[in-house]
Amino acid sequence: MPVLPVSPLAEYRFDLPDESATDALAARFAHAYGDQIAPAGLHVHLHGDLGAGKTAFVRATLRALGHVGRVRSPTYTLVEPYQVGSLAVHHFDLYRFSEPAEWREAGFDEYLGTPALNLIEWPERAEGVLPTPDLSFAIDVVGDGRCLRAVAYSDTGRACLVAFATSPEDARGV
Ligand code: ADP
Ligand code: MG
Repeated sequence: MPVLPVSPLAEYRFDLPDESATDALAARFAHAYGDQIAPAGLHVHLHGDLGAGKTAFVRATLRALGHVGRVRSPTYTLVEPYQVGSLAVHHFDLYRFSEPAEWREAGFDEYLGTPALNLIEWPERAEGVLPTPDLSFAIDVVGDGRCLRAVAYSDTGRACLVAFATSPEDARGV
């Protein structure tokens, strides 16, 4: 995890024992975003090793927002933009960056200039260039399942996180 210049405003952990749990959490996130946050847009960083489930979470988010059709991992294209109804979603994967300056060289700042849901895999690869996210999700492999730690760094991020973390059975504040 990169060192971020602001203190976390809220933090929750979610146990995700199987992929259906990931899908369900992503759906709750998508609905919180679509219902309350979309006019402002949201920047989300997704941390985790290869195979942790970052793309799986993004895919489930897009489906829950109403996207029909494929969700390709942007491993080679670096970014996949979506328009889902009135919502703009940009899915980045910066794994192949060799240095953070590539973010600016690629013109990706433009994507952050308008209200959109920006979901960024491997933000570490553009450390120092990316703005502080509203939310960061860190996914760890735990046995056969996963654990997702969600941290809010802005009021918008906290509002979204609190909205989708309200189910007491599978979320606990830390
Ligand atoms: P990443 O983008 O982090 O490299 P992917 O999303 O491409 O990883 O792959 C994640 C893999 O983990 C997929 O095979 C997916 O089916 C699986 N997966 C996702 N969530 C869970 C979970 N909660 N428990 C177990 N497996 C999961
Ligand atoms: Mg991925």
